[in-house]
Amino acid sequence: MVRPRKQFGQHWLKSDKALDAIVKAAECSTNDRILEIGPGTGILTRRLLPLVESLVAVEIDRDLCELLVKQLGKKENFILLQGDFLTLDLDANLVAFPKFQQPNKVVANIPYNITGPIIEKLLGTIANPNPQPFDAIVLLIQKEVAERLYAQAGSKAFGALSVRVQYLAECELICHVPAGAFYPPPKVDSAVVRLRPRQMEVTARDPKRLENLVKLGFGAKRKMLRNNLQSVVDRDRLSQLLEQLNINPQARAEEISTQQWVELVNLLDVGNGE
Ligand code: SAH
Repeated sequence: MVRPRKQFGQHWLKSDKALDAIVKAAECSTNDRILEIGPGTGILTRRLLPLVESLVAVEIDRDLCELLVKQLGKKENFILLQGDFLTLDLDANLVAFPKFQQPNKVVANIPYNITGPIIEKLLGTIANPNPQPFDAIVLLIQKEVAERLYAQAGSKAFGALSVRVQYLAECELICHVPAGAFYPPPKVDSAVVRLRPRQMEVTARDPKRLENLVKLGFGAKRKMLRNNLQSVVDRDRLSQLLEQLNINPQARAEEISTQQWVELVNLLDVGNGE
């Protein structure tokens, strides 16, 4: 077995149960073009390759890349890019490889230390959504982060990340994965989640404003929304709009669902004469 490196967040998945759950959640078809981030020793890659049209993997560790090329380099539906996924220009790297361009699904056991930035690169932001949204994104991530992605308003895990991600994608828990499913076991438990990018039924008229107000609204924990936003929205006016939406005017940011956030910010804009 290849010795895992801490600096790259390497934890090899060894549980068949977890691997099966990831592959099943990806609902692979022979038309699918997969993007895998951090293939590691290729344990997940090997399972996916026979099921899909093509798979492009991005791995930062040179030694692992050498190994992967040796073992999987002959597969005609596999291509490996060496580099940092966060800074890599996927389109530019795939110009000469039409079969791998514009992957429609992401399936990966990612390095946990860069989960937030990876999700942002895959989905984009509220103000700048990815113009080529994926059909599905199946990720194995830290359990606490997973909980924030699919949290409902009012629950402990619901926060700014929940709103930002839920605005861009439907999020569901597939299964929990215990630390013992990896070598070496990470210090945290894990979970498989599936994100399906989509537009919400009601979208923000001013996405940048929604983004800013969410950031500000969740700023000071356990404070009423109208207090957190008082530098930009009149407190009384906000109370009135919250009531109009059947939300307690004393509500805190974490009690307001993603959809209600959108409705609230759209109402604010109306009042501005837009
Ligand atoms: N998918 C494998 C490995 C998961 S560990 C398995 O399930 O066993 C995370 C992997 O991501 C490691 O191979 C690590 O080298 C790689 N990695 C870490 N940072 C990365 C980055 N910025 N870009 C691409 N790959 C990265």
